[in-house]
Amino acid sequence: MHTHPEILAPAGDMTALQAALDAGADAIYIGLDTLNMRQGATRNFTRATLPDASIRCRERAVHLYLTLNTIIYEHEIPACQNLLAFAKPYIDAAIVSDWAAIAACKAHHIPFHISTQMSCSNSITATFLKQQGASRIVLARECTLEEVTQISHQADIPIEAFVHGAICLAVSGRCLLSHEAYGYSASRGECRQPCRREFFIQERREGDNADAAFRVEPHTLLSAKDLCSLPFVDKLMHAGIAAFKIEGRARNPEYVKTVVTAYKTAVAAVRSGTFTPQLVAQLTAACAEVYHRPFSPGLYYGRPGSDQFADTDLNQATSRKHHVGIVLNYYQQAHIVQIQIQGHPLAIGDNLSIHGPTTGVVEITVTNMRHDENSLNHAPKGTWVTIPCKHHVRLHDKVYIILPAT
Ligand code: SF4
Repeated sequence: MHTHPEILAPAGDMTALQAALDAGADAIYIGLDTLNMRQGATRNFTRATLPDASIRCRERAVHLYLTLNTIIYEHEIPACQNLLAFAKPYIDAAIVSDWAAIAACKAHHIPFHISTQMSCSNSITATFLKQQGASRIVLARECTLEEVTQISHQADIPIEAFVHGAICLAVSGRCLLSHEAYGYSASRGECRQPCRREFFIQERREGDNADAAFRVEPHTLLSAKDLCSLPFVDKLMHAGIAAFKIEGRARNPEYVKTVVTAYKTAVAAVRSGTFTPQLVAQLTAACAEVYHRPFSPGLYYGRPGSDQFADTDLNQATSRKHHVGIVLNYYQQAHIVQIQIQGHPLAIGDNLSIHGPTTGVVEITVTNMRHDENSLNHAPKGTWVTIPCKHHVRLHDKVYIILPAT
């Protein structure tokens, strides 16, 4: 029997959150600026933006979860307790891994989910965590499909599993590479991802026939491919998973929109009996347009072989966005947007992506372009144009052109 899984989207900022809402996410997870596994990211929510995020989610009956899943050190106990007390009115659950955070959730009567950082990998652990008050378990990313199925059928607690996004070679951050190399700890959400980089082996001895250097090939030999579960969404639904988690709080709003849309479509297709290889190919191609490493089935079909590792860390997206400019005005009655072109020029037929914290991500094709009364086929940098746009966009929204990756 197939479940109807919650599609759980990442959001690193308000634009991504709005994009997730517009794409139909059932729930969204965010971090505030401390104590979460993306605290080093350029994007994050703050105490000032959390209330707005909460209002937007509640208007759509979408759940909002706060990620607070780092190790909590002794001196951080007050910060952890204060953060949870502050967040309580705005969130539906916290995603935690440290027992101090669990104790704080229990003290404040905040529902909590067990983060993948706790590496829950069996039904006895899941049941035990339920007895401690957990309302959901995010399984370890290393569980196979067979293990996920057994756990979700045998443990009496909803199970969440990652379906899409980056995979860490080191059991979700149990790795000292980043700390050793740069002083930023993966277990503190600060990983600088040295596993994704290129290495040389340098001989340390000097003198004749010494001082050799070798490039390590493939240069990203520690860099795991990204997970893409679209080809086996039906099997994941059959496994009884309650929530499909999309990784990527550090990724762009268009990534959130595209991937949420793909998994919503796939789940709906399974339920309506229209889940076909053609649809999988179409949805995978859509996800390939936005930022990703080479795709793989992750660890769902067993322990990784050498083909689980990427031989490149270059973005594999089949399309790229380039900065065009900003929105100067939106004429609601006429459905016209005025754009100041500050970068890439525009032409009829161009595909644009307009991003903003209230707008989310809006995609339009330039069907008509004017400057005052003049119709234009091309518009250079430095001018402004008006373009039909049936979606409401806003002053200062960012405008990008989407071009094939070269
Ligand atoms: S360096 Fe790579 S393997 Fe290590 S924690 Fe970071 S992402 Fe994972």
